[in-house]
Amino acid sequence: MNFFAPTLYRATIFNPIAPNEGEYFPDGGLAVERDGSISFCGRYQEAHVRYADAVTVDLRPHIITPGLVDTHAHLPQYDAIGLGSGEELLTWLERRIFPVEELFMSEEYAYAAAVRFFRKALSCGTTSMAVYSAPFYSATRLAFKAAAETGIKVWMGKTMMDTNAPAALLKPAMANIRLSESLMKEWHEKDSGRLNYIVTPRFAGSCSPTLLRNAADFASQNGLLVQTHLSENKKELAFIASLFPNEIDYTGVYESYGLLGRNTIAAHCIYLSPRELRAILDTSCGVAHCPTSNRYLRSGIMPLNKYLQSGMRVGLGSDVAGGYSLSVMNEAREAMEQSKTYSMYTSESDDIIHAGEALYLATLGGADILHSVGTTGNFIAGKDADFVVHDGAEIFNATTTVEQPENVLARLFYTQPTVLATYIRGKKVYELDTLNGDVRPLP
Ligand SMILES: [Zn+2]
Repeated sequence: MNFFAPTLYRATIFNPIAPNEGEYFPDGGLAVERDGSISFCGRYQEAHVRYADAVTVDLRPHIITPGLVDTHAHLPQYDAIGLGSGEELLTWLERRIFPVEELFMSEEYAYAAAVRFFRKALSCGTTSMAVYSAPFYSATRLAFKAAAETGIKVWMGKTMMDTNAPAALLKPAMANIRLSESLMKEWHEKDSGRLNYIVTPRFAGSCSPTLLRNAADFASQNGLLVQTHLSENKKELAFIASLFPNEIDYTGVYESYGLLGRNTIAAHCIYLSPRELRAILDTSCGVAHCPTSNRYLRSGIMPLNKYLQSGMRVGLGSDVAGGYSLSVMNEAREAMEQSKTYSMYTSESDDIIHAGEALYLATLGGADILHSVGTTGNFIAGKDADFVVHDGAEIFNATTTVEQPENVLARLFYTQPTVLATYIRGKKVYELDTLNGDVRPLP
């Protein structure tokens, strides 16, 4: 036995390459080296010849996709899923969300909630995640500890607010920056870049000009990504306009304070004017599309296809608890469905997102806006082996014709079979508890 030989995973494999391009191997082989990197993805027979001494893990009839990327989620809101249904953003924040975020003043609660949150994300097949932590230093430290222990890849930051929220959640502008800096020093780029600090001004409505300006400086001085919200809800737009009467529009606020750019992830972006769209494209700003949340909070429908055709960099975000599920598969299905709703109301019949594009957005598109296409998002040799095993028995037992790759992929998204296991850097970080399920255990 060769102890240095790779492990060969045999399954049906989807490998997205570009928004409208991907590979499909009905009997595929994914070779994973001992260091957790990918050395091959292709037909099993070819892999078997190439790696004659590899140990094969036969996962047939299951399906492997790259690990899913969630580009927008709020850790402290996990316990608020489903609350205040029907309320709109600003009311919902005040009534449902701020009280739940205050619970994170308790370290015991903060740590336990973070462990539950990351375990749940892994059980949904999420391997990389951009996370808003609570607005507290200790809670964010403990959330990083939980992320470190559960094995997930995160870009996480303490949510920064210094105005327009309950006093318990606010910190003065410079205290927000100092605490973020301390967290960055402790956690950024730890475990070879698995844990990362991301600068997190909640949105222009809860940050003073001083905080916005200093957040931008802090991010650029340290080469950090930034995450925030933009153009989510019409009442929010009016609120921002009243706070910043001298700015040309909502996007203009972030431009003025140096927060718009290639390192920024702006969530929602539903109501962009042509000028704002141009600004987003000119700066290559990343956009987190959160369709479930956009509907749950009655925010609106983002014109996804139009944005993709314009060249916008887009990933998917669960936006828990505006979204009610941590599953990126759910967001992908919702993105496809809402593209239909959008087309019905605009009579733009081409504005439909198909399963191939949904797979791209759920994996490589998300990796792009997290600046991590070099390490995750698909199965290119040298990248980390971040992948999900979906229960293929639920797909291939169907009586419909599923040999066509587009049919298999569509069924994968629309039936959303059980996630059996999740791997990050070649290590199994989640496996379905088969004692409580009726699926056969993985080898
Ligand atoms: Zn959000």
